[in-house]
Amino acid sequence: MTLEGGGATPPPLSTMRAGTLITPHLAEEAINSRLTCLPIESLPLTQCVGGTLRENIYAERDQPPFDRVTMDGIAVDSAALRRGLKRFRVQGVQAAGAPPLKLNSDADAIEVMTGAILPLGSDCIIPVEQLDLADGYASLTAAVTGSPYHNVHRRGSDGRQGTLLLETGTLLRAPEIAVAASAGMARVRVSSQPAVMVVSTGDELIEPGDPILDYQVRRSNTYAITATLRKRGLVRVGDDHVPDDEAQLRERLALHLTTHEVVVLSGGVSMGKFDLVPKVLLQLGVQEVFHKIAQRPGKPMWFGIGPQGQAVFGLPGNPVSTLVCLIRYVIPAIAEAMGTKREPPERLALAASVTFQPPLAYFLPVIIEHDDWGRPWANPHPPNGSGDFLSLAGTDGFVELPPGPNTYPKGFVTTVYRW
Ligand code: AMP
Ligand code: MG
Repeated sequence: MTLEGGGATPPPLSTMRAGTLITPHLAEEAINSRLTCLPIESLPLTQCVGGTLRENIYAERDQPPFDRVTMDGIAVDSAALRRGLKRFRVQGVQAAGAPPLKLNSDADAIEVMTGAILPLGSDCIIPVEQLDLADGYASLTAAVTGSPYHNVHRRGSDGRQGTLLLETGTLLRAPEIAVAASAGMARVRVSSQPAVMVVSTGDELIEPGDPILDYQVRRSNTYAITATLRKRGLVRVGDDHVPDDEAQLRERLALHLTTHEVVVLSGGVSMGKFDLVPKVLLQLGVQEVFHKIAQRPGKPMWFGIGPQGQAVFGLPGNPVSTLVCLIRYVIPAIAEAMGTKREPPERLALAASVTFQPPLAYFLPVIIEHDDWGRPWANPHPPNGSGDFLSLAGTDGFVELPPGPNTYPKGFVTTVYRW
C-alpha cells in the first residue's frame, strides 16, 4: 500500500503467534506494521470529503474575526441605558458585510442586522422585538438592561488566529470541511487514494445476468467488496475474475500488481486442490506475512506484501468470511495507509447470550436494536454457516467475541464492526 519502504521493522511473526494461529489482533498489527503511508496530494476542498487530511490547519483569523452582532435590532452605548435613556435617534443602518459605522453620540442608535460588525462607539444590541421603530426614532418597549456586549459575539471568543483547528490524520467530513473553508483553504493536502483491484477466483462463478447451471454459483463477493470500498469513499476500485488456473492466475495477478497498491482476492486460499492463490502469489514475489487466523469465519485468510510494497489480501471465498475479513482487516489497513487517525472502536453489549466453544475468535453478525431508553444493543443474528450470506441482509455488522468464556451472557460488551 505503499510504495515507499521505510518505517519501523515489524516484529518477526514467530513472536506474534498464539498457539499455532495468529490472533485477529496480532493479524491486524502484522498487516498495519507493514504498511507505509500513501503519498500526499493537494485537492480542491470540494473533492476532499471522506479523505484524510495530511497537514495541520490553523485559524486564518480570530473567530469571529470582529465583534459580531447576533440579533437584528439597534446598537447603542450601554452607558446611555444605565442613565435611563429610553428613546434614541436612529442614525443609520449597519448591514452584514459593510464596514463599521460610528455612533455620533450616546443619544443615537444604529440599526443593525445579524452578522454585522458592531458599530464603533456602541457596545450593546437591543433586539428589534423590544423596540418601536418610527419616524427615525427607536423607543424601548421593555425594561432593557444594557450590559456591555449584550447580544454581541465577541471577536476571538471561539478561537484565536493561529490556533490549531484540524490535525493531520483527521478524517474530512462536513464539519471539518467547513472548518477548513473558514480557515481560507481553497485546497488541502490529503492522502492519495490507493488503487485497489478486487479479484474473484473460482471456476464455478457466474456473473449476474449471465445464464447459470445447477452446479454453478453467482459471483457475489466482488459486488460486496466493491460496495464496501465505495461506501468508504474509495473510488479507484477495479474488479476482475480469474478461473482456477495457475497460469492465468499468475498472468493476471502479475498485471494487477504492477498497477495497484492493494489487491483483494476472494477464494482460493484454503486447502483444496484448486486453492492456488498462495502458491501463485509466492511465485510472483509476494511475501507471505501470515496464512490463517484463529477466527471463525474466515480462518484461511492470507496476507502478504508484494515486491513494491503492495498489500495483498487473500480472503476466503465463503461470502460471510469474505465480508467479515474485509471489514475487520482490509478497511482498517487502507485507513492506516492513508494516515487516518484511529477512532476508538465502537463497543456494544449483547442483547442475548451466545455460546461458542472453539478456541477461536467468533465474528457474529448482529442487528443493532434500541431499548425503551434508546440504548443500543447488539442482537445476535447468526448465519447458517459461513456460506449463508442471505441472512446477512438486514444486519448492521458483526461483533468480535474473543475465545474464552464459551458462553457470553446478555450484556457482554465487545467490539462491533459495521458493514
Ligand atoms: P473458496 O474459498 O474458493 O474455496 O470458496 C469457498 C466457497 O465460496 C465456495 O462455495 C465458493 O463457490 C464460494 N465463493 C467463492 N468466491 C465467491 C464469489 N466471488 N461469490 C460468491 N461465492 C463465492
Ligand atoms: Mg474457489
